[in-house]
Amino acid sequence: AAGQVDVLVIGSGGAGFSAAVAAFDAGAKVMLVEKEPVIGGNAKLAAGGMNAAVTKPQAAKGIKDSLESMKSDTMKGGRNLNDTALVDVLVNNSSSSIDWLTGLGADLNDVGRMGGASVNRSHRPTGGAGVGAHVIQVLYDNSVKRDIDLRLNTRAVEVLKDDKGAVKGLLVKGQYTGYYWVKADAVVIATGGFGRNNPRVAELDPKLKGFIATNHAGATGDGLDVAAEAGAEMVDLEYIQAHPTLSIKGGVMVTEAVRGNGAILINREGKRFVNELTTRDKAAAAILQQKGKTAFLVFDDSVRKSLKKIEKYIKLGVVPSASSLNELAKIIEVDGANLTASVQRYNQNVAAGKDQDFERQNLPTELNQGNFYAIEVGPGVHHTMGGIKIDPAAEALNAKGKAIPGLFAAGEATGGVHGANRLGGNAISDIVTFGRLAGENAAKYSSKR
Ligand code: ADP
Repeated sequence: AAGQVDVLVIGSGGAGFSAAVAAFDAGAKVMLVEKEPVIGGNAKLAAGGMNAAVTKPQAAKGIKDSLESMKSDTMKGGRNLNDTALVDVLVNNSSSSIDWLTGLGADLNDVGRMGGASVNRSHRPTGGAGVGAHVIQVLYDNSVKRDIDLRLNTRAVEVLKDDKGAVKGLLVKGQYTGYYWVKADAVVIATGGFGRNNPRVAELDPKLKGFIATNHAGATGDGLDVAAEAGAEMVDLEYIQAHPTLSIKGGVMVTEAVRGNGAILINREGKRFVNELTTRDKAAAAILQQKGKTAFLVFDDSVRKSLKKIEKYIKLGVVPSASSLNELAKIIEVDGANLTASVQRYNQNVAAGKDQDFERQNLPTELNQGNFYAIEVGPGVHHTMGGIKIDPAAEALNAKGKAIPGLFAAGEATGGVHGANRLGGNAISDIVTFGRLAGENAAKYSSKR
């Protein structure tokens, strides 16, 4: 074997880096392998926020939240198909995961709203910069400080086991080194999902055939094959989420925080058609029912100013703007009188504090500060809810429901936490909490061997 470690982590997304740092801090010698030439996976693309309840940043802003509320929102969003024991882990550790990241140097002090949430609990950097890129940067910096052995261009091929069925190492293939194996007491599979693998997606959910995806190129699911080969059971693979708002022209995801900060969705008749902050599955389905199967996110300067990320979309050249709604309507070819009337009516709803048309719960701002903006959006594959079956200790389970000795898994590679539909903001929360847990438990397991 070319090397020996206590804990070997596969995947350099949020789950993998959290596991690596946590395992190191629990006393383990750690190696992290990543098949791509760059770190960060889907995690670094996450733009919305990190959901957590009863946190210090919430308290500082006077936001009242409860663990029960986060749990019931998560279950409702998942159509009650979530594994409740895993949801408890997610919810009960969410606040301590914010503290953990803050202790490592993160800024998660801005708290906004995401779809399906009863209160503001989506934590993100001050000014609304992308949460995923920030969290990955912080975790990467911490892994460098700890001198954790990170190997890029290195694909996990096979988990090796001893004659008792316990993990003894990992066979990898380095792009420039070829195959070699590393001895390890414990392996953490944090390889993410398979949203970028459209043939695989379409086989499980034919409605999604040919869909574009928000995912990074490495989200192909080969880590799930490695896990299955090692005897891990898969759950919920058929639940695949389309993010409702991809910029059709830009091919990038437009974060839910744009809606959370006040944007509305308008169809080609110039009318609203859905509660913009319903869950992603419902919002995506509603957009697909509109003429042209796309819609427009419409907002004003007050929303633009509230979220840094919007400048990025503007720079991409995919955000037509005009000083009046009528002018904007002409550019995007929707009915101008209807658009103006829809926005006026929405503004009345905001002023009254109640959305009489679609029961939208959060109504942050009237849209009356020109310029006005529109982004054409439609759904794209975003998150694969299913994956490796784990227990609340992040141990990978076999078909009989028994933990595979030394095999742990965390993040999008696992199934059960989100049920049939993941809430915006719950991915970063999931990967950090379960990544930490997997890393700590893998280190503990190793120290007993
Ligand atoms: P999560 O959000 O759960 O952390 P990400 O998608 O952010 O998941 O990260 C998963 C990472 O795992 C990606 O960077 C991906 O390239 C990497 N990966 C996937 N399969 C393998 C594999 N077989 N070997 C090594 N790395 C892998």
